[in-house]
Amino acid sequence: MPAKCQLPDLIGNTPLLYLRQVSELTGCAIYGKAEFMNPGGSVKDRTALGIIRAAEAAGELQPGGVIVEGTAGNTGIGLTLVANALGYECVIVAPQNASREKIQQLEMLGAELLLVPSVPYSDSHHYIHTAQRVAAGRAREEAHGAIWARQFDNPANRQVHRDTTGREIWEQSEGTVDGFICAVGTGGTLAGVADALRERKREVRIGLADPMGSALYSYYNNGELRAAGESIAEGIGVSFVPGNLSGLNVDFTHQVEDDDALPYVYDLLKDEGISVGGSSGINIAGAVAMARDMGPGHTIVTVLCDSGARYASKLFNPEYLWKRKLPYPQWMAE
Ligand code: PMP
Repeated sequence: MPAKCQLPDLIGNTPLLYLRQVSELTGCAIYGKAEFMNPGGSVKDRTALGIIRAAEAAGELQPGGVIVEGTAGNTGIGLTLVANALGYECVIVAPQNASREKIQQLEMLGAELLLVPSVPYSDSHHYIHTAQRVAAGRAREEAHGAIWARQFDNPANRQVHRDTTGREIWEQSEGTVDGFICAVGTGGTLAGVADALRERKREVRIGLADPMGSALYSYYNNGELRAAGESIAEGIGVSFVPGNLSGLNVDFTHQVEDDDALPYVYDLLKDEGISVGGSSGINIAGAVAMARDMGPGHTIVTVLCDSGARYASKLFNPEYLWKRKLPYPQWMAE
């Protein structure tokens, strides 16, 4: 009998991809976990499955129940697919400035979509606070339960990365990993992978790559939540400390300008045939900085969070980049 493989079985166990150019540039072996190969196209499929499985185990969701989340896209895509596969409904609250591609995909997959104005986190109409209110309302009405996925501080998020992403990185690198670095959206990936690796190798170095506009670089360096500048990378950068990061110490921090990150995205596509989104560019820039800091001969791992296809209208649109004075390669304008 062939295995009865279904959608949840397709999530995770992504390849650990050797990044040739940046490895040659630094003298380190730099790898990217190919999370764009998950069925929903991003690292967030793992979070979606982890949160839903934890809610089932806690008796908070029965078949036909509702999952509500505030997300700019990838978590919504993952939650909607897993919900479809397991018999739940999904309500996604997203900011209006999320990329057109992600919004279209959410609609196509059948999520109930609520678009709200893009306002600061301190505003009670921010999409995350709105999701909390919507979930509370649905929980009162739904016979089969309704949960707020609350990916920023739901322990199931960090846990699934500890149990899967981090364990896989350890196994695939055959225990050679010396450093791991990535940016933070909810912090589930960074903290979960850090837990898994430190548990197996105490001296492994954990790094934060922080885009402009995020307050975490300042937080980890001087304890102040202060942000400056902006980034076109979606899904990363925060103005508060997500619950997922509690108790996490980082050994290295690197603040990344879009000008420095975008060329890695374009070179990886042009020279190695790998198409990734903006947050992966921030991560690769962070891995290069960590490699330079540690010196040649080390093995460094980062995350390729999602695919460039999700950002055709921004990252691969010369007009959009030109207006923002961002660099783009000659071949893109031809
Ligand atoms: N990159 C992209 C494109 C994302 O959507 C996310 C999720 N917000 C991340 C990176 C960051 O992952 P995490 O939430 O685990 O910090």
